[in-house]
This record gives sequence, C-alpha cells and structure tokens, in this order.
Amino acid sequence: MNHQRPQIVHVALGSNEGDRDAHLQRAVDRLAQVPGVQVRRVSSVRETAFVGDGPAQGPYRNAVVELACSLPPHALFACCKQIEAEAGRQLPAPRNHPRPLDIDIVFFGDDVVDTRDLVIPHLRWHERDFVRQPLVELGVDVAAKRRWSGPEVIEAPEAMSARSLQWRTGGCVIGIVPTMGSLHAGHRRLMEIARAECDRVIATIFVNPLQFGPKEDFTAYPRDLAGDLAVCRQAGVDAVFAPSVAQMYEPAFCSHVAVGAAAEGLEGAVRPGHFAGVATVVARLFAIAQPTRGYFGEKDAQQLAVIRRMTRDLGFPIRIVPCATVREPDGLAMSSRNAYLGAADRAASTVLARALRSAREAFRRGERDRDRLLQRARTIIANEPRAGLDYLELRSEEDLAELPPGPIASGRMLVAARFIDGVRPVRLLDNLSLDGADEA
Ligand code: AMP
Repeated sequence: MNHQRPQIVHVALGSNEGDRDAHLQRAVDRLAQVPGVQVRRVSSVRETAFVGDGPAQGPYRNAVVELACSLPPHALFACCKQIEAEAGRQLPAPRNHPRPLDIDIVFFGDDVVDTRDLVIPHLRWHERDFVRQPLVELGVDVAAKRRWSGPEVIEAPEAMSARSLQWRTGGCVIGIVPTMGSLHAGHRRLMEIARAECDRVIATIFVNPLQFGPKEDFTAYPRDLAGDLAVCRQAGVDAVFAPSVAQMYEPAFCSHVAVGAAAEGLEGAVRPGHFAGVATVVARLFAIAQPTRGYFGEKDAQQLAVIRRMTRDLGFPIRIVPCATVREPDGLAMSSRNAYLGAADRAASTVLARALRSAREAFRRGERDRDRLLQRARTIIANEPRAGLDYLELRSEEDLAELPPGPIASGRMLVAARFIDGVRPVRLLDNLSLDGADEA
C-alpha cells in the first residue's frame, strides 16, 4: 500500500569497509531506482572516527540523504536492507563490526514507528554528530525534531549535570519544572510556559521521600512514568530527569536545608518537616541541573514562597517563575491526588474554589475587612459537611506573611480541607489572590 502523499524521509548512510565513498554513492543511486522513491538532496560526506564497544576498526564515511517516498516505512526499510546486502553486508549483521554499508531511516515525515525490527525516529539520532550535522546542512530544524522525537530520559545525576553543562556552554537558557510525576494539565502548563521562555526544558519526575511524613502517602502516591513521558513529549520537554531514590540520596546522605519563617503555619503547621524536605530536594535539583529558570505552581503557594526564599538565601542564580493554578471546568484546582476522591467528595470538592471566589467577589465589590472576608468563605465551607477544614487564612501577597485584623489592601486566601469518602482520605489545597489576577 502506498502513502497517499509522498513523505519527506531522511536516511543516514555510513561505511567503514572497502571503497567507502563508492558504497555511499551506490546506495544513493540504488535508492533513486526504487519505485516510489525520489532522491531530493544529499549532504556532503563526513569522516568520523569509530566510537563504540565493537572490535577496533577504521573510521566511517557518513552522509544523510533526503527522499520523497510514497512507500510505507517497512517497505522502504526492506529496500534499505536489500541495498545493504548488495553492498556485501553480512546479514544478520554482527553488532558494531565493520560494514561496507549501513542505511538507517532517521525520519519518515511525522510518522512514528515502534516495532521490533524498526524504530522511527531513529533512537539517539540527536546524540550523533554524523547524523545531526548533515541534517542541519539539509536545512532540517533539528531542535524542533528533537522535541518532536520525545524527551531524553536521564536517570543518573551525573548524566543530567553533563547534559546541562553542554547546553549552558552552548549559550542555552535552561528551564526546570520539578514535579512528582502523575502529570496533569497543571504540570503541563508549567512545561509549556517554560517551553515558550527557554531554549531547553528539563522536567524532573521524582517522588521525594523527604517531604512525606511517616503517616503520609509516600508509597501510595500515584506513579505513571509512561503517561508522564507522553505529557512531557506533548509539552515539548527536552529532557526528563527521573532518578531513583538511591540515585538522589546516597546511603550516607545527611545534609539538609533548614527552612525558617516561610515554612511556618499553614501547610508547615499540618505537615512538620514537609518544607525542609521540599527545599532540600529542590536545592539538590538546582545543583544537579543548574537551570537558569525554575517554574513552580501558585497552586502550592507556600511551597513557592519557601522556594523563592531558599533560592535567595542560598544564592542560586536562578529566576523563580510563578505559574497560575490550572483548574477543572468546575473550578477544582488540578492535583495528582484528585484521582483518589470518591464521587460524592469529588462533587463536594468544588466548595473550596467557590469559597475563595466568593471572597474575591466581595473584595472586588469593596469589602476590605480581613475577618469579614474570611467569614464569608468559612460559611460556604461550613455548609458542605463532606469538607473537613484544616485552615482558611488570608496572608500577604508578597511572602504570605500574616495580616493583622482590620482593612487589607491586597492578599491571598489559602485553604486546606480533608475529604474522606474515597479510596483513601484526600487533603486538598487551594488559594486565590483577592485581586484575581492569578487564574490560568
Ligand atoms: P507536584 O507534582 O504536585 O509536586 O507539583 C509539581 C509542580 O506543579 C509544582 O510547582 C506545583 O505547584 C505545580 N502544580 C501542581 N498542580 C498544579 C495546578 N493545578 N496548576 C498549576 N500548577 C500546578
């Protein structure tokens, strides 16, 4: 079956045995003879030393050919294997041995092929200069192709540091989006904002044991790496840093970031040690990835305040970028924990956004008294018996400092409540600036 329209296809050629340039030229000529294939352009030929773990062998000659191809990917792949065999290549080929001809399909239009014998885009094409440079020469936007090919997944902190150093040396602005995975549209928005503002975007996925208390849901926290990678790919993330707990914290690990006033009250009062755990892991992520900018959600307003403070106090040269809370259509702030709400609690959970929005409406209409604004929101929550209120407070916009009773000029209202009819009890957080400029 032919494709309706010809696809633009890039194939990489390599040879390190026999008359290498003659093998490359014959491959181009043979591709041009395949019915349904037209050779559009050929890059210049480059010489590359052999790198790899095979037997010692001579250097390669490499080039990339651009085709217009109306065959399906597997049909073109079969032709490539045939042309390799005609050049005298032993098939099945021993891995990393010298070869007269190697033909790899790098891109096949926007097709993604993931079968046992054929993977397109070709794995790790972007790590190979002898593929990347000819693509650039042929006018391919390799940065866009790189993003489209999906993020690179990095597990070792040393590998993350090395990649980041390479990017910084190349003059890139690097954005980091730290997450605990189980990604939703709120996380995705952070990545999209970073994508728009930075040359390279790192998303980190790490469920950090240090920020969970002994009775909290560390082991039960939802994990879904495959789904997370799909979200990162859609958002155009360049690298996903997903270390294991052992890789982040060696057995002898014993240095922690102590956090002061910014971590007191609100979540800090309910979850002792939580923000010290958050600050420690974020400091470690900053040190490993050395980003230029860090993207954090206003959804976790106190966490944002703690990280801003920690970044200034410890002197990280990183700009912290706050991102507005993304909500479900009915107002519930998106959270990985929403999945655990039972149906009745899910319906009741909108009470938090309703209470905050009601206070904001009153503020907009001219109500300025701190306690009357709080009372208004508190009454709405009290009318929802499924919500167990942990706290409801009005704090300063800049650093979440306590506001004295009486009139306020601006402020942020923060709420936390428990819902208990689902698979397990769920604590939900929400907050809203009374000026109302912060909804995504
Ligand atoms: P988490 O994976 O819950 O630790 O969150 C990772 C980052 O995403 C944090 O900066 C959160 O504040 C942010 N985030 C979580 N939920 C939302 C949301 N609904 N809207 C915007 N940002 C969010």
